[in-house]
Amino acid sequence: MFHALRRILHDVNNSEELKCALNFTVRRIKKEMTSDVCSIYLLDDSRYYHILMATDGLKRASVEKIRLAPGEGLVSLVAERAEPVKLKDASQHPCYHYFPEAGEDGFDSFIGVPIIHHRINLGVLVAQDYANNKFTEEHVDLLTTIATQLAEAIAHARAMGCITVEKTHIRSNPPLSLLGIPGSPGVAIGKALVCSGAVLDAVPDRYIDDIDNEIVILQAAVLQVKKDMQALSERLKEASVPQEDIALFDAYALLLEGDSLVNTIVAHIKEGNWAAGALRQTISEHLDIFEQMEDPYLRERGEDIKDLGRRILEQLQKGQDKPTVIPDNAVLVGEDISASMLAEIPRDTIVGVVSVNGSGTSHTAILARALGLPAVMGIADLPVKFIDDCEIIVDGYSGRVYFSPPEELAEEYRRLQNEDVELSHELDSLKNESAQTPDGLRIRLYANMGLIEDIIVGKESGAEGIGLYRTEYPFMIRSHFPGEEEQCRIYRQILKAFESRPVTLRTLDIGGDKSLPYFPIQEENPFLGWRGIRMTLDHPEIFMIQLRAMLLASEGLDNLNILFPMISSVAEVKDAKSFVLRAYKELLDEGRKIKQPKIGVMVEVPALVFQIKEIAPHVDYFSIGTNDLTQYLLAVDRNNAKVADYYDGLHPAVIQALYQTIHQAHKYKKPVSVCGEMGEDPAAVILLIGMSIDALSMSVAALPRIKWIIRRFSQVQARIILDKTLTLDDSKVIRQYLYAELEKEGLGGLIRAGR
Ligand code: PEP
Ligand code: MG
Repeated sequence: MFHALRRILHDVNNSEELKCALNFTVRRIKKEMTSDVCSIYLLDDSRYYHILMATDGLKRASVEKIRLAPGEGLVSLVAERAEPVKLKDASQHPCYHYFPEAGEDGFDSFIGVPIIHHRINLGVLVAQDYANNKFTEEHVDLLTTIATQLAEAIAHARAMGCITVEKTHIRSNPPLSLLGIPGSPGVAIGKALVCSGAVLDAVPDRYIDDIDNEIVILQAAVLQVKKDMQALSERLKEASVPQEDIALFDAYALLLEGDSLVNTIVAHIKEGNWAAGALRQTISEHLDIFEQMEDPYLRERGEDIKDLGRRILEQLQKGQDKPTVIPDNAVLVGEDISASMLAEIPRDTIVGVVSVNGSGTSHTAILARALGLPAVMGIADLPVKFIDDCEIIVDGYSGRVYFSPPEELAEEYRRLQNEDVELSHELDSLKNESAQTPDGLRIRLYANMGLIEDIIVGKESGAEGIGLYRTEYPFMIRSHFPGEEEQCRIYRQILKAFESRPVTLRTLDIGGDKSLPYFPIQEENPFLGWRGIRMTLDHPEIFMIQLRAMLLASEGLDNLNILFPMISSVAEVKDAKSFVLRAYKELLDEGRKIKQPKIGVMVEVPALVFQIKEIAPHVDYFSIGTNDLTQYLLAVDRNNAKVADYYDGLHPAVIQALYQTIHQAHKYKKPVSVCGEMGEDPAAVILLIGMSIDALSMSVAALPRIKWIIRRFSQVQARIILDKTLTLDDSKVIRQYLYAELEKEGLGGLIRAGR
């Protein structure tokens, strides 16, 4: 049965057309279960009728004709219950509905399992048999497993309109759109430019003219992989790794020597596809062959082919990931748009970002905000490879992306975009005004930065300093650790640009979703692993270079604050501080005239919320990293689109944690800022005003908007709203309530497109 399951799943996942996949599936299941009928019913677009979409056993002519309204038949029962139903004598069941046109006479045994995707019912998978009591629990398990896989495939196909379930009178055909997670506010209208990362399945077809050149590119990549494999194999031999483990790499090299794989790729290039597309085609064809093999050992070898394909793709992308021809108004689309990909592409060539993975606080989204690019994250159902070059609208407020939008919709979005621009221009006039509530609470507004290009914009933005400089970005776009001199040059540029204003440089925070190509960290749970201060304390040589560079850079400017990320205990603060002191003394001994910097810690590990009292004597300030604090408090991976609905900075527990942290910090006379993304969430900012936050640090693009809120809401008013919020127990209700308050004050333009 397990083998059968693999086969069926393979067919489903490899069919170009969903309809074919459904037909395959019913045929295979019927055969494997030796049942008389297998059918698939899907909910139509109105989500009202279940329509028979594929069958093996019922009359073919009834496909797409049989439709069941809610409450009609056993299919509706399965959908309503959202659980499998197994009957030994179906015709006796009160919900049984007889369809003469399907030739349904006399099927006693029935199993129906719901097809559910992210809690939403898509349809029902059914098996029937003439015999009484034919099906076992094992049959139910098989159908349930297949239904989960079908759900993914159907959701994908449906998302892109690949399947046309007949429309009903209830709703007209909506424009094709998908909902993701708002990543960066604003509206972008442009053409999709697919960046596939190293995900082979996501590589689009692209047609090329210079076939010879493409073959040369491929050969260079293959040669490099061959060399890498040989080198790896040598290294492993030297390390006395057992021969059987090394054999795989030798086998890879042999596969690349042989004609079959490379020649097939070349043949596809000659048909006009670019090397990466030809590689995807070839690997997929090879996988098909492996999947058909009966021998389980040989079937598993398909994984090796896949791995080899990924390695060649990585090589191809080294030269091509920055696409050679970037269309005007390109919207960067990918399975995983990494922060470094985004950092490398010239700013003026892209207008927006759409990522299948990630969420509003993943570093890609943070970078998009820093660059002022509207972004939508976590569109899980987006079949990336089909949408290269497609017209696209990105609504970064709502998280919706429209594909090939009708002209009226594009026109409407252009209008909203213009209103956004108007609003931004108006808000620019606040640049030199102070961030003060009408009743006198002064809140410092700082900028978050990480890219060197930000400086000029940041300097002119009205920011009162830098509240968070993420030092890892300059590390990410280099091929080795930058040395003391290079780091010092970068830091000095920032400290100098903001002369006489405080600049907070955070020590290296790699690990989690920020990796360095030259310092790979492989962990099962990177966000709970060797990250931030844990890594730098373990590598004093890296830490000392960075601290010395920071201190040196501040010579004569005296505006440096140092911030430690991922602190979870007093001992870590003491350790980290001792390194600062050591670097400081070294530099004094070298004759430098440097002022001691202020030292702060990030409150982002929940443990710290409960240790403010103990940590306060060791630091000058606290900075709340709400991105990680939310992630760790709610146990939700901030990058995982599947659980993005659980990630909410307005969760009552997060609000309580902020409240307690700020209250405690003030009790021990330490200022506290928010440097996570909540600092630029208009709804959260009202609450932070109510909590008397001392400073907020955010992307430069958000500064005027947040200043507008501060100048509109008095502290008294914000406290009343905070008090009411503290009585609410549901983050969605909290957000609705806060949005309504923003609308009441005429600030709705901050939370949606248009004024
Ligand atoms: C945070 O966690 O809120 C934060 C500001 O740090 P980062 O987003 O870089 O992890
Ligand atoms: Mg963090």
